[in-house]
Amino acid sequence: MTSDEEYLVRLNEVRWGDDIFERDAIITELVKRGVYPKEPTPMMARDNWTIADMLRFYGAYWHQWDPGQECPSCKADLRDHNYGPPFSRKIGIYSKKVDRTTQWRCPDCSHTWERLQ
Ligand SMILES: [Zn+2]
Repeated sequence: MTSDEEYLVRLNEVRWGDDIFERDAIITELVKRGVYPKEPTPMMARDNWTIADMLRFYGAYWHQWDPGQECPSCKADLRDHNYGPPFSRKIGIYSKKVDRTTQWRCPDCSHTWERLQ
């Protein structure tokens, strides 16, 4: 039997492809298994997005928050529960020099820390 993880890896491979039949079959299976939520997240409900839309924009792991969703200083929960996963309340600080987000800032206490990966 194909594992949940194998399906998620496969979804990232077919994410941009035209074979929507395979993509939708895997999505249906992952919903059935309870890996993907049966009900839309708040953001999906608000903007009328499907799981296929979430997959396309955020990748197969859209249903999870990245690790590190706690402020290292005030310990605030930085997961954005108004939108649902994968959205975070962390504020990204972008460096033009290296063209990437290099630091995070807590919206509650303004503590700033280095982005590790
Ligand atoms: Zn904080």
